[in-house]
Amino acid sequence: MILDLSQFETFPIHVKLAAEPEAISIDYDSVVGVNSAGLDLDIQKSGEEFYCQGNARASVRLTCARCLEEFDFELTNSTDFIVCSQEWHKSHRGIKDNEDYVFFQGGELQADLTDVLRQAVIISISLKPLCREDCRGLCPSCGANRNEESCQCQVKKTDERWEALRKLSGLT
Ligand SMILES: [Zn+2]
Ligand SMILES: [Zn+2]
Repeated sequence: MILDLSQFETFPIHVKLAAEPEAISIDYDSVVGVNSAGLDLDIQKSGEEFYCQGNARASVRLTCARCLEEFDFELTNSTDFIVCSQEWHKSHRGIKDNEDYVFFQGGELQADLTDVLRQAVIISISLKPLCREDCRGLCPSCGANRNEESCQCQVKKTDERWEALRKLSGLT
């Protein structure tokens, strides 16, 4: 996903970029795939630097950590970074700096923002994504999806515990 700044003469500008979903590959067990992803940016020029600020948006297909069902997750995450040439950065910026930089490739005013987008998407995805806050998950005994059906395992378990308690208290 290339940002080409050579086509703009006056700043600030607002750009919307869409990535090829396949380009935003995320190697997480919980991520089935990316449906769509893109950046929405306000860009201000200052000297040789382009300040980019905006949002990363994506729709990703995830697997629920509890019930293992797939679901679509829509995310938005703010992002800001500076695009400039590597030479400029070397000569004008110190080593200690909290900004994020994306460098132009070669002498062109073109920058690949695929990694920026991928990072913004990755930090928005929980390590244990849930299809919904109160997902009841799978029954550990019979594997039934407890969002869809109620099995009898829980009942039996309660009985067993009650049984043990009765033994302990010498009731049986
Ligand atoms: Zn779930
Ligand atoms: Zn069960």
